[in-house]
Amino acid sequence: MRFLKITFATLFACCAALAQTPAQTPAQTPATAPVSFDKSGMDLTSDACQDFYQYACGGWRVSHPLPADKARYGRFDELREYNRSLLRSILENASKPGKHTANERKVGAFYAACMDEKTVDAKGIEPIEPWLNKVAALDNRRQMLDLVAKMQAGGLPSVFGFGSGPDLHNSTMNIAHVDQGGLTLGDRDYYLKQDAKMVEVRGKYREHIQRLLTLAGETPERAGDDAKTILALESKIAEASMDRVSRRDPKNIDHKMTVAELGELAPEIDFPRYFKLVGSEELDSLNVGNPEFFRKLNAMLVSEPIENWKTYLRWRIVKSSAPLLSKPFVDENFEFQGKYLSGQKELEARWKRCTSMTDANLGEALGPIYVAKAFPKKAKERMDTLVAAIEKSMGNDIQSLDWMSPETKKAADVKLSRVSNKIGYPVKWKNYSTVVIKRNDFVGNVRAASVFEHKRDMAKLGKPVDKTEWQMTPPTVNAYYDQSENNINFPAGILQPPFFSTKVDEAVNYGGIGVVIGHELTHGFDDQGRKFDGDGNLANWWGPKDGPEFERRAQCVADEYSSFVAVKDDNGEVHLNGKLTLGENTADNGGLKLAFMSLTSQLGASQSGDKADEKIDGFTPAQRFFIGFAQVWCENVAPQRARELALIDPHSPGRFRVIGVVRNSPEFPKAFGCKAGDAMVPKQACHVW
Ligand SMILES: [Zn+2]
Repeated sequence: MRFLKITFATLFACCAALAQTPAQTPAQTPATAPVSFDKSGMDLTSDACQDFYQYACGGWRVSHPLPADKARYGRFDELREYNRSLLRSILENASKPGKHTANERKVGAFYAACMDEKTVDAKGIEPIEPWLNKVAALDNRRQMLDLVAKMQAGGLPSVFGFGSGPDLHNSTMNIAHVDQGGLTLGDRDYYLKQDAKMVEVRGKYREHIQRLLTLAGETPERAGDDAKTILALESKIAEASMDRVSRRDPKNIDHKMTVAELGELAPEIDFPRYFKLVGSEELDSLNVGNPEFFRKLNAMLVSEPIENWKTYLRWRIVKSSAPLLSKPFVDENFEFQGKYLSGQKELEARWKRCTSMTDANLGEALGPIYVAKAFPKKAKERMDTLVAAIEKSMGNDIQSLDWMSPETKKAADVKLSRVSNKIGYPVKWKNYSTVVIKRNDFVGNVRAASVFEHKRDMAKLGKPVDKTEWQMTPPTVNAYYDQSENNINFPAGILQPPFFSTKVDEAVNYGGIGVVIGHELTHGFDDQGRKFDGDGNLANWWGPKDGPEFERRAQCVADEYSSFVAVKDDNGEVHLNGKLTLGENTADNGGLKLAFMSLTSQLGASQSGDKADEKIDGFTPAQRFFIGFAQVWCENVAPQRARELALIDPHSPGRFRVIGVVRNSPEFPKAFGCKAGDAMVPKQACHVW
C-alpha cells in the first residue's frame, strides 16, 4: 500500500508477514513475553559441536510447531506477537468512547474502521470503483500515463516507482529517484525462470488473476483472457528489470541525469508532465535507478495496445486493494499469496491484521503510546552503554587486522567515528493532524494515510536530509543501518527479550542485542557498505591492495553460504544465494565477533558480578553468549516460505545464520571443546572482519 520509498538501508531481519487482510477468527489469548535464555528450548541430547542449531534450538522447535496463521514462526515472531498484543490493548481502549488524546482518537478510529468487517463487507468493491472507472475511460497513451501519475500520488503505484531519497554523491540532500517497478509477484524470476516450480507458480498466478477479476465484476471468460494479457505484460516488465543481486551494488543504480536525458531514454513519457501530476516540484535532474528499464518500457508503451495497459492497470488496482476489501477479495488474495505461495494455512485473525495495519499506516501516532508503555528510560541508558562498548570493539578490531594497510585503517576509523546511533524512537514525531480518519471508511483511511506519506515525500525534494527520521516504527522487531546516513537504528520493539533484558547476565545480552548492534555496525563495512564513506557518500577510501584483499575474504563467505541448502522438497533442492546474502552474512559474522570482544573485555575488567569462569545453569559466560545468540534464531518454516525467502530475502534462514557464524568463530570451539573434524569446525573458516 505504500509508495516507493527510496532508502539505502540494510535491515537486521527480513519481511514480517506479507500485507494480508480480513477474515474472522476468534481472538486468541494475549501472547506472553518471551524469555531471554531458555534452557528448556535446547536439545541437550544433541552434540553442540555437530549441530549447534539443534543443540540450542531443538527443544524450542518441538515445543513451538508452526501456528496455522504463520508461514514462518521464530523467536522474532514470538516477540512480534507479544508487541502486537500490547498494541491491541492500546487500540481497543483508544477505539472505545472516553477521554483520549488526538493521537489516540486517530489510531482508535483507524482500528475501529478496520475491525468493522460488516461495513467493509457491505461496501464490497465500491471503495475502488472510482479508480476502475478512470481506467475504463482511458482512450490513449497520454491519458494512461496521466493516470499512472495520479495513481502514484493516490497510493497505487504501477509501472514504475518515483520518490525522494538521498543523493548518492551528496548524502545531505534529497533528490528525486525514478526506478523500475510494476511487478506483482515478488521477483523477476517468478516470471522468467523455466523450472517446473516457476512454471507451476505462473499457472496458479493466472488462475488467481482470473478469480480476483471475476470477483471484481468481469465474466470468467473475459477475466481468463485478461489473466493471459497481464501475465504476458508483467513478464515483459520482468525482462526489463534488473535482478536483485545486481541491485545490491550501488554503482548499478547510480545514474544521475537531467530530465531531458531521461526523456531521451523514454520519449513516450512526458516526464515534466508526470512530475507535475504526481505533485513534485519542477526538477532539473534526478537519479534513474535503471536506465535500461525505461528504454524498454518506452518500447512497450509503443508496442502494447492501450487495451492491454488498461487491463494491467485495472489488475494493479484490484490486486493491491484486495487485502482491504470485502471477505471474498481477502480470502482469494490469501489463498494465493498466503496459502499457495507461502504455505500459511490460515489467515491471521482480523485484530492482528488491523493492529499491524494501524502500525503501518499511522505508526508515529501509535508509537508514542507504545513507547510510554513498553520502553523504560533504564533500557535506553543500558543500550547506550552497550552500543558504546561494541563501537569500541570495532575500533580495536580494525586496528588488529593483518591484511589492511595503515592508511585504510585510518580511513575506516574515520568512518566508524562518524556513525551515529538512534535508539528506541524518534526525537520528533510526525504530525498527522491533516489526515482525516473516518470510522466507516477503512479503505479511505488507508488511502488518506498513503496520500499523507506521499505528500511528505514530495515535500522533501531538493531539501536537506533529516537524519532524525526513522524508517521503522517503534514497535518493530528489527533494526537497520542506513548507508547514506551512516547511522544504526534500533526501534524499541527489538529492545526486549529474547534480545535484551535488564534481568539476565551480560553474556546473554551480548549474544542477543550485542550481536544485533555489531551486525548493524558491520553493515557500514560489508561488501556494499564499504563503498560509502563516513558522510554516507559513494567514495572509495580503500587502498589499492586493500580492496582486493577484502573481496577475496568476502568471496570465501559467499561460497560458504552458497553451499547451504535452504529447502529440499518434492520440487528439488534450493541453495542459498551466497551473493544475495553476502552483506547480511558478513554483518552476522562481524557482529558476533564484535559482541564477543566486548563481552570478553567486560568480563576481564569486571571487579564484581560476572566472571569468565562463573557458571549459570551449568554454562560458562562464553557458552551462554553463544546459546543466547543462537536462540534468537530458533524458528520453524513452511517449505513454501523457505523457497520464497531463498529467492527474495538477502538474509539467510535462522539455521544458517547460526551455523554459518559459529563455524567461522575461533571462540566457538574453545567455548564448547569442539575439535578439528567436528561439523562445526570447518577446515577453512572465513573471516572478513
Ligand atoms: Zn542486516
